[in-house]
Amino acid sequence: MLDCHTHTELSPDSKAKLPDMCRAAKEKGLHALAVTDHIELCRWYPQDYYKARPRNEEDFYHYAARFERSMEQNLLAKETADGFVFMNGIEMGEPDADFALAERLYRDERLDLTIASLHELPGRLDFYFLDYAKEDIPALLGDYFAELLKIAEHDCYDVLGHITYPLRYIEGTAGIPVDMGGYRDRIAAIFKTVIGKGKGIELNTSGYRQSYGKPFPDRELLCLYKDLGGSILTLGSDAHAPEDVGSGITQGLALAKACGFDRVCCYLRHEPQFITI
Ligand SMILES: [Zn+2]
Ligand SMILES: [Zn+2]
Repeated sequence: MLDCHTHTELSPDSKAKLPDMCRAAKEKGLHALAVTDHIELCRWYPQDYYKARPRNEEDFYHYAARFERSMEQNLLAKETADGFVFMNGIEMGEPDADFALAERLYRDERLDLTIASLHELPGRLDFYFLDYAKEDIPALLGDYFAELLKIAEHDCYDVLGHITYPLRYIEGTAGIPVDMGGYRDRIAAIFKTVIGKGKGIELNTSGYRQSYGKPFPDRELLCLYKDLGGSILTLGSDAHAPEDVGSGITQGLALAKACGFDRVCCYLRHEPQFITI
């Protein structure tokens, strides 16, 4: 059991205290826990820099300061972790906003694991906030995968986070079915890039406990990744509260096995540590 994707109160959408997340990991018998608070590169600098106003209640700025607080908090937890391996991670959102910054941040020696995630397209709101009755969904998904390919090509991550994230809201919340067949080639290109660079993807199990009902990516795409030669896979619950630590990981491990994986990874100083399943 391992959980490579969790958040604390340093993320705008979580109120969880770090000691409570660690306690939950220990109680649930996790072998390894990564705390990966949101570090959004499109809002890295203070608000004045962007001459912008917050667009909603989760629109925080100056992630540079949050990053330092997160490193301080996580390194202390890493030193005192008892009974499990603690990984100091970040969920780097929107690395495409500033690839030079993304690559510099990735090389920060304090980090064990960097998950690169795309939550919003350039100049748009997080997929969470979009009104899908009014959106051109094929165009939106086309842009999402094109942007994800750009991210995959840069040295700013260990694993790509929750691939197919927009489906959480398009299919899960709005209930609009999407035929993913048309995106298969684009997704295959992303996987080939990731594999060629010696990097990995995560199986994000949050969808199991949400209306979407499936992980990100789903079985078909996870098997495609494996068939293309993908071997580096992390599993993460994306827990924002202690009760969700480790949630869906057992199901995720079973799915990984069904797709042919015989091992999964955690990370120390950006080096994958393989665990047989
Ligand atoms: Zn995310
Ligand atoms: Zn997350």
